[in-house]
Formats: sequence, structure tokens, C-alpha cells
Amino acid sequence: MRARETTALYSTGTRPKQTATPDLRTPLQFLPGVGPRRAAQLERKGLSTVEDALFFLPLRHEDRTRLVPFRALQPGQVATCEGTIVGLSPPPPGRSRAPFVVMLRDASGYAQASWFNAAYLARVFKRGARLVLHGKVTRFKGAVVMQQPDYELIESGEDDRLHTGRLVPVYSLTEGLAQRALRSLMWRIVDTFARDVPESLPDAVRARRKLVALSAALRDCHFPSTETALDAARRRLAFDDFLLLQLGLAILRSRTTRARGVAMNPRGELVARLRASLPWPLTGAQERVWDEIRRDMAAPFPMHRLLQGDVGSGKTIVAALAVLTAVEAGYQAAVMAPTEILAEQHFMTFRQLLEPLGLAVTLLTSSLKPRERAARRAALAAGEIPCVVGTHALVQESVEFRRLGLAVVDEQHRFGVEQRARLRGKGEHPDLLVMTATPIPRTLALTLYGDLDVSVLDELPPGRRPVVTVARTESKRREIYTFLRDEIARGRQVYVVYPLVEESETLDLKAATDMALHLAEGVFRDLSVGLMHGRLGFEEKDAIMRRFKAGEIHILVSTTVIEVGIDVPNASVVLVEHAERFGLSQLHQLRGRVGRGPWKSYCILLTSGRPTEEARRRIGAMVETNDGFKIAEVDLELRGPGEFFGTRQSGLPEFRTADLLRDGAILEEARAEAQAIIAADPELRDPAHRALRASLLARWRGKLALASAG
Ligand code: ADP
Ligand code: MG
Repeated sequence: MRARETTALYSTGTRPKQTATPDLRTPLQFLPGVGPRRAAQLERKGLSTVEDALFFLPLRHEDRTRLVPFRALQPGQVATCEGTIVGLSPPPPGRSRAPFVVMLRDASGYAQASWFNAAYLARVFKRGARLVLHGKVTRFKGAVVMQQPDYELIESGEDDRLHTGRLVPVYSLTEGLAQRALRSLMWRIVDTFARDVPESLPDAVRARRKLVALSAALRDCHFPSTETALDAARRRLAFDDFLLLQLGLAILRSRTTRARGVAMNPRGELVARLRASLPWPLTGAQERVWDEIRRDMAAPFPMHRLLQGDVGSGKTIVAALAVLTAVEAGYQAAVMAPTEILAEQHFMTFRQLLEPLGLAVTLLTSSLKPRERAARRAALAAGEIPCVVGTHALVQESVEFRRLGLAVVDEQHRFGVEQRARLRGKGEHPDLLVMTATPIPRTLALTLYGDLDVSVLDELPPGRRPVVTVARTESKRREIYTFLRDEIARGRQVYVVYPLVEESETLDLKAATDMALHLAEGVFRDLSVGLMHGRLGFEEKDAIMRRFKAGEIHILVSTTVIEVGIDVPNASVVLVEHAERFGLSQLHQLRGRVGRGPWKSYCILLTSGRPTEEARRRIGAMVETNDGFKIAEVDLELRGPGEFFGTRQSGLPEFRTADLLRDGAILEEARAEAQAIIAADPELRDPAHRALRASLLARWRGKLALASAG
């Protein structure tokens, strides 16, 4: 029953039929004029029903009420114009890299359009045909040229009012499906069915937030009469995106806060002993955050908290205090990290902190030998080991705990909602602490972590100075080496980092290995050079890290395995080779390996070849700021929310319209409404919330499992 309820957005109560009057659930194939071939093309776009098509929103709109005359085109501008083809010049034979150029005329004059790799256009374009063009204007050898514009052939027909003289929707296409044909089909669908889409929002919410009706919003999102109508429509649909997400998160959250958890309120002896053994006091921010966590753990409800703090802000020690509290209260604690390397690093840290207190820590990853893994699992199940550090191997079915009281998840953004839930499922409502070293802009935090309480470490340990960051090219290599030598002479240590791209792991590994050899036998033969990479076994890595920490290795050449978790305060320089190949948050993490002690520290970003525009912006951002929060915002801007946010991986519903960068204000409004709605009606049983409930279930595709009665 539930499965069906969640597949259609608006339950009409009937099964799809092809004979009765078509409705929202009618397969597109049964609409007049749509045959099996067209239906198959639409299917490739994920469109099978009328309703799917209604929510298939245009990529953009072109304002064809204001076509720019050719004479008025300005280089640099993005313009839409229309003209008649007066000449075609395909690339000459044998010069396939030359563009296909088309000469056009309109009432005001002439222009050219050019496309690369487009020999097929000879079959598409005919002299005398009318063309609408949209794209960037440049000047080439004195002529005004539109380069690689989007184009559309204009044929006169009865539905001309759809394609010209208005705000015209432009859809994403697929092979065999032309813009004009798709637009005509969409017009028919919107014209016939948009009005049938039931309103999902309660009237009060719509009135309060000044939102247009859903049916009007859908119509105007496709075929708006004015820009204003389009904006209002977009605002409504974005609001729905955010509201449905925030409602779901609010429901998940209200369930955890209502569930009975364990109250862990031990005397705090272990915590006191660990604190006494630390060489420094906690920072004010650490004290505050620890207090928030301690209160959560003492309360009889499960903790559900995000600890957010920039690289080097000292999250690990806070997590260790939480672990000790759980252990002293008689429970087990699990710490999960997204990669094997990071899990190993954490394992070393926790062992260092906990073993002197007489507590055993174990490591659980999938690279262990099966027998060893089985032994450790058995020890956990028997309750013999109080603390385990591991990768996602921890959430495998075969892993059991005797009494899991606390789950810590590091680098939270790399895990999905489901993995987080699975780890929690290993105990009876254990406390959950998730940590992220990538500071996240507020809009994203509300989206990703809307179901969590948030603590922020907004202070670095005292004495930290911003890391001096510079961008350099190959020509400066010798100066750089001299600089490294000077730093080492002052007693410091150095990282040299190589990118590791999965596709060519072996090649890159070779680059790092060759470099280590080159440095060890050449320029730095009087110094000690170490090599670290992911292929080494745990024991070897451990040994190298120990020697580096002890100062026995001066220069550690490494792949990105040191990206997170490594902590050697004496290191003062990180030299990043091929900096153009790293992502922004990765660069920020790498920089975070230095500046951890009282020394002035440096991050040298060495680029080779000609970096792309985006790579240049990444490196520019690094040089400009040390603030992880600003870095995260630039990263979000450059990569776009989809990538940054890993929507698919997160397990959260995807947005149809909303744009996290642009629509922050709408998100705040939707969040406020979601909280008010859930506070008043936690499972959406009020008849006034019926339609909303149906939308919610559909959007979350079963992941919410609302009690289906009522
Ligand atoms: P992150 O938040 O990036 O995980 P870590 O927990 O690895 O940061 O801490 C970074 C470094 O700061 C470590 O060397 C840690 O020992 C040190 N540290 C943590 N808290 C303090 C403090 N209150 N005072 C001084 N150093 C601290
Ligand atoms: Mg950390």
C-alpha cells in the first residue's frame, strides 16, 4: 500500500487508465500526438506521466519580445536575436577544426554565427531559413560573431505565439527531440493539465508568505506572461522544495527528540584525568561546545548534534571527552571516518589519548584480514572493548555492540543520512555526534543538517597565525627548495604533497615516488626524506608518521593521504605540487596540516601548465583568505550545490527549482513554516495538511515512513 502512495505526487485514487479522460497520472504515450517513439524519447528524460512533464521545468527563458537587432549587438554581451540565413560556409575539407560559419541578415544588418565540430549543421541549415540565436557576442576580424550560440529554426505555423514574441521556455533536450517540438508538447500539457494540480499548501501559509497557487506557478514557470510572473512562480516552487525538505527533516528530528535515549551522567573522572593530562587548557570555544555536548548526553533523550569547526580548531579532543563520558557511564563508543586513512589516523590519536587511562581502543576497517576482523567484532559484541574507530565497515550488518551509547561521525558531509542512521541503529537510541571540518555556509547547513543541533568551534587554539599562502610556477622551483632548506635549518619540517587522481593512481604514485627519490638523492641528499602513500600497510604508515612526529624525517613527500587527520605541530611548510588539480576544500585541508604550532607557517601552491579559469579562482581564493567559511562559500559557488552537497549521496530529496546560492531567504521562510507546522501537527494528520502530506511522502520516496493510516 505504502509503495503506491509514495509513487504518485497527487493521489487521485484511481489507477492509470488510457481510456478514461486523461489526468495527471496518464502516461504521456496516451496523449494525442504522442506515439511510442516520442514517449521513449521523453522517458529518457525521466518523463513518463503528465505530472512528470508538468514538473519538468525549463532550463531558462529567452526574452523574444526584445530581440536585439544585429546592428546593436555589442561584443561581450549575451543576446537573443533572429535572422535569415543568407550564406553557409562549412569548414573546408581537411580542416575539420575550422568552425562552421553562417551569415545572417535581419532588418538592421548582418551578423555571423559560428560553431565548432558541427559539420552536421550542413544538413540542418538551408539558405533562407529563419533562425533564433542565443549566445555570447564577440568580434572576429571586424565582424560581429555569435560563438557557439544555441539556435532554433523558426518555421511558421499556428503555434508561432509559443516560440516568438514572448518569454520563451528553453528545455533540456535529448537525441531526436527538438526544442520546438518539445515546447509545443509542453504547451499542450501545461494548457490542459496545470489547472488540475491540487494545491498542496495550507491557505494560511500561502497568504502569510504571499505565494501564488501551485497550478498558476506551474503554468508561469513554463509559459510566463511577464518576468514578474516568472519570478513569483519560481519563488513558489522553490518554497515548496525547501518546505518539503525541511518538513521531512523536522519530522525526523521530532521523532528522535521524542524517543527515549539513555541519560549518561557519570561523575566525570575519566574526563578529568584526560583534561589533567593535556599540555594546554581547552579554548573557550571548546569549553562551551563540550558543555553543550555534556548536557545533551546527560539528558534522557538521544543527542543529535553537529560539531562544526575549521581545520585545526580542535574537534578531536572534544570527541574524546564525549567518548570517555560514554565509557564511564558503562557504554561503548564508536568513531566513524569516511576513509581508511582517516580512520587509521583517528585510531592512533584515540589510542594515544585513551590507552594511558587504561582503556582499549580497536580499529575496524575492511582491509583487515578476515580472521582479525572477526576477532575484533567478537570483542565488540562481547563488550570487551569500550571504543572502536573505523570506516563504514562499522555499519555492516555483522557488526554488533553490547551497549553502544555514543556514535561519533567525522567528516559528516561525506556520509549520507542513511549511513548515519545505520550506525545509530547499532544501539538503542545512542547519542550521535557528527563533526565536519569543512565549514558549511548557513544555507547548506540548514539543508544538510536541518535535523541536527549545531555547535560551532569558532576559535582556534591560541598562538595560531594565519598560514602565509602563495601561488608559484615551475620557474620558482629552485627558490622554493632554498626556502625549504632554510626552514629545516630553523628546526622545522616540511610536507610535499602530490595529487592522487583515482583514474591514474599508479602513475601518480610513481610521480610521488620518483619525487621522493629525486629529492632524497639530489637536492636534499644531506637531509632525511620520507615517503607516504595509501598503498603502504598500516604498520608502515604508522612507522613513518611516528618518525615524522619525532622529527627524524625532515621532508615528508606524500600523496593526499595526509589531507585529514595528520597533526604535526612542528611542520611549517606544505608545498602542494600540481595545485591546479586539487579541489578547494582539499587545498584548505592540506593547508590545515601546517600552522598547528607557534611557528610562522607557509603553504606554497605550485602550478604547472596553464591552469583553467576555475583552478585559478580556487588558488586565488586560497591566497586571499585563511577563513574556512569563506573558502566553503567560494567552493559552493564554483562547484554548484549539487556537487558540493553531494545530493545523491546525502539521501535527501533533490530540488526541482530551488537554488541554495540564490534562494537563501526563501529557505529561511520555508524552515520557519516547517517548524511551525510540525510543532502543531507532528505527523501531518490534520485534514488541512492532507495534500501536503501526500507531497511530502512522494518527495522523500519512503524514507520518512510516516504512519500510513489517517
Ligand atoms: P581538527 O578540528 O582539525 O580535527 P584537531 O583536533 O586535530 O583539529 O586539533 C588540531 C591541533 O590542535 C592538535 O595538535 C591538537 O592537539 C591541538 N589542540 C587542540 N585543542 C587545543 C587547545 N585548546 N590548545 C592548544 N592546542 C590544541
Ligand atoms: Mg579532525
